[in-house]
Amino acid sequence: MALNLNSSNVATRENRIGSITGYIGSLSDLADQSNRGTLKGCSRCFSQSSTCLSTCALGQLSAIREVAIIHHGPSGCSAASADAYYLDKVMAKKRGITNNTVYAGTDMNEKDTIFGSAESLRRIILEVNQRYSPEAIFVTSSCATGIIGEDIDSVVDDVREEVEVPIAAVHCEGFKSRIWATGFDISDHAVLSSIVQPPKQKRDTINFKNFYESARSEIIDIFSNFDLEPIFLYCNSTIEELSHISESLATTCICGTLGNYLGNGLEEKYGVPYIRSINPLGIAGFETWLREIGKVTDRSEAAEKYIEAQRVIYIPKIEEIKKELKGLKAVLGMGPGYTFEVSRVLNELGIEVVWALAWHYDKKYENGDVPPSMEYLLENEVDFKASVADQQNYEVMNILNKYQPDLYLSRHPGSTVWAIKNGTPAVYVADEYMIFGYKHTLEFAQSILESIHNRSFEKNLARRVKLPYTDWWYQQNVDEFLEEVKSNGKAIR
Ligand code: SF4
Repeated sequence: MALNLNSSNVATRENRIGSITGYIGSLSDLADQSNRGTLKGCSRCFSQSSTCLSTCALGQLSAIREVAIIHHGPSGCSAASADAYYLDKVMAKKRGITNNTVYAGTDMNEKDTIFGSAESLRRIILEVNQRYSPEAIFVTSSCATGIIGEDIDSVVDDVREEVEVPIAAVHCEGFKSRIWATGFDISDHAVLSSIVQPPKQKRDTINFKNFYESARSEIIDIFSNFDLEPIFLYCNSTIEELSHISESLATTCICGTLGNYLGNGLEEKYGVPYIRSINPLGIAGFETWLREIGKVTDRSEAAEKYIEAQRVIYIPKIEEIKKELKGLKAVLGMGPGYTFEVSRVLNELGIEVVWALAWHYDKKYENGDVPPSMEYLLENEVDFKASVADQQNYEVMNILNKYQPDLYLSRHPGSTVWAIKNGTPAVYVADEYMIFGYKHTLEFAQSILESIHNRSFEKNLARRVKLPYTDWWYQQNVDEFLEEVKSNGKAIR
């Protein structure tokens, strides 16, 4: 990708890497069309509500310690990230540290949306800086500021010398993109352009982009076998840590959708290699990932030794549980980073994926390659029905009703709850490390087994709940949507 750190604006995923939110077909067709450059996203004439990308951008930035987020917009937009702010405090407490990050909204009103409020924004930045002495300031935008063309960049440039800490304008207007993951890229761009400094020396560290560092101590232990120290980003990161990430030996991530922009940006700008393997979920993922880290950091021998020792402990147990999972059928709905990785793990465990929904789909990553998770599935001749739907739950319900799988897996609680109300056992893949490495793959397999062994909760709930979907909707044939897409160029709903 061509990274332009002189501009505070980042092109959307749709424009940069051809991401889409509407498709129905199969995994092989999706990948084939991506490779040939013929894949076109479909639009819906009906859409359920989705997520605002600013939530992802603000959530990422507010997780950094001792910074100030000044959200320039109406209070309703600022409130969208209240839960992220709360979560950041909880995650810091869990680690036994304090995160004094401040989150302030400028509370734009009707008058501001007509006449602009650049002067109040300026005053608010200076007041926040004086009152809280943050180590960096991120001034974020909203739809309202984007629509009226509020010149946030000029205000930021104007106060730069006065505040004496790094300050960046962050353009996260929600209307920019249907793909909320664009918010991850926007936050990475702000960090790359305002915080990260050119390297002075190389260190035995590895940048690890993740959400909530729940496996922090475990990963520190694993990497100590290779004399490597992980730097977890951005949850509980400090500005000092972030300023040095250009000095690491490599960058990796728990999810390609989350880590792609930062990984590629650090590689392009500072030559820090980005680990482009399948993710460390399941056996194949974990081993491929460790071997790639070993290769890039010149620690292959240590990586092989670790793999060998861990296989002895876990593989027999995983093989044993696989006997009970064999033949189960699953539907899953997740962000694309996890959809195709978790499909691979389910396949590894002997569970057949009958349909996978990805909340969006990136045709290619920033380096021009098809995402490694897709490539792996195709090379191993795994294919299944697939669709791209930005949390369009009514489509999930139709698919569950038709395929009657043994199991539904999602990383979004709202989606999982609806499956349970429908009588389908569901596993909420909430924690990003829930399938990480050998140990958690075994635990994941056990969770699946527990979910399908006792189905009384789902059955009882389904009997008592009246869902809003009519028989007419359930009778609609999702398989035929593709034909409609092919003939009309858009999905019929
Ligand atoms: S920024 Fe736009 S999309 Fe996001 S919450 Fe505000 S109005 Fe909604």
